Amino acid sequence: MLIVQKFGGSSVADNERIFKVARRITERYKEGNDIIVVLSAQGKTTDELIKKAYSINPKPSKRELDMLLATGEQQSVALMAMAIRSLGFPVISLNAAQVGIRTTSAYGNARIRTINTERIEQELVRKNIVLITGFQGINKYDDITTLGRGGSDTSAVMLAAVTHADSCEIYTDVDGVYTADPRIVPNARKLDEISYDEMLEFAALGAKVLHSRSVEVAKKYNVNLVVRNSLNENPGTVVKEECQVERMLISGVAVDKDISRIAVIGIPDEPGMAFKLFSLMSKAKVSVDIILQSVGRDGTKDISFTVSKGDLVDTLKVLEEHKGMLSAKEITHDDEVAKVSVVGAGMATNSGVASLMFEALYDAGININMISTSEIKISVLVDSARADEAVAAIHDKFKLATMGLKA
Ligand code: ADP
Ligand code: ASP
Ligand code: MG
Repeated sequence: MLIVQKFGGSSVADNERIFKVARRITERYKEGNDIIVVLSAQGKTTDELIKKAYSINPKPSKRELDMLLATGEQQSVALMAMAIRSLGFPVISLNAAQVGIRTTSAYGNARIRTINTERIEQELVRKNIVLITGFQGINKYDDITTLGRGGSDTSAVMLAAVTHADSCEIYTDVDGVYTADPRIVPNARKLDEISYDEMLEFAALGAKVLHSRSVEVAKKYNVNLVVRNSLNENPGTVVKEECQVERMLISGVAVDKDISRIAVIGIPDEPGMAFKLFSLMSKAKVSVDIILQSVGRDGTKDISFTVSKGDLVDTLKVLEEHKGMLSAKEITHDDEVAKVSVVGAGMATNSGVASLMFEALYDAGININMISTSEIKISVLVDSARADEAVAAIHDKFKLATMGLKA
């Protein structure tokens, strides 16, 4: 069998954990499997490198930032190779340039386009355990790029797809995918399985246990994906096309704190205003999430929308420059907001989900700023200081801690 294993930052945070993971890898190798391992940077390394960069220059070049951040993953694979070698097994570490992981040009948020499997295959034929840096690639200029925070998951799934691996195992610091972040909701329940579509929504809405692009890739190439704990042998959560389990109303609650809200106030209540506003955003390459337009009153209306925190400064700059063109009276913003969502394919046929969610927030006295819905999710914008409380209240209301458990 060919197995791709990915270990996240906390799983390789110190020497003890590196050896624990090394033994776990070599166990599977001893069973006669071919093994490709993808690693993230150790512990908080990526955060520290970012801090270091900003302490030198508050507006660092994106190219140089990627050059710096990619060193974290390179440290991990080299150290792991040394650990595995000390246990007496053949191993080689490779970075993205050595493998040939080609990405788009967008520094800091690149997408993998192709992976050359030649070198990997050669090393597997030599019976080496192959360790590969996650999170990074090279673009058409041969410059180093990174895939966005949490991107090592995507490196692993993409490698599993191109090598036609039998399975892709994502090892992290929790037992699998839960009905909510177990750090926010201690009685959250682990899911035995979840469909690609639900996991995709869940990840996109803030459940950072998997990078959302990794789920897209897994669905596209039908990768056998499982999320497990690197510190125990529990079976984890299988992510797959169709789930056999009894359909529940919702599968989970997610929170995204990387959100800012912008309001464009007092624009003329006439056709074309939304078009004008959002074509400015699209030209500035800002992606807009929830949009809310007020009912026109006295010939004017307001449009508010959310963007990621990283896009706030650019968005405000563009809006201020075009305030006259939009005939806007005022532009305000708020970055003390968070998006809380419920996710689940079961809600498409059940209209009671929204009212149950709103009731939970009402009971907790939490105000809703914005609402957005789709077939398999409902999101609300709330005060960020109360976001965790909102997640717990909603989780409780849907009885997710006990639902689906056999009596
Ligand atoms: P890694 O470094 O292994 O990639 P991450 O920190 O990126 O780990 O992701 C794992 C974390 O995701 C968990 O520690 C947990 O706090 C968080 N998380 C958020 N939502 C969920 C969820 N629904 N199920 C499991 N973990 C979640
Ligand atoms: N080290 C990178 C990060 O912290 C990538 C990853 O962990 O997946 O975002
Ligand atoms: Mg991660």
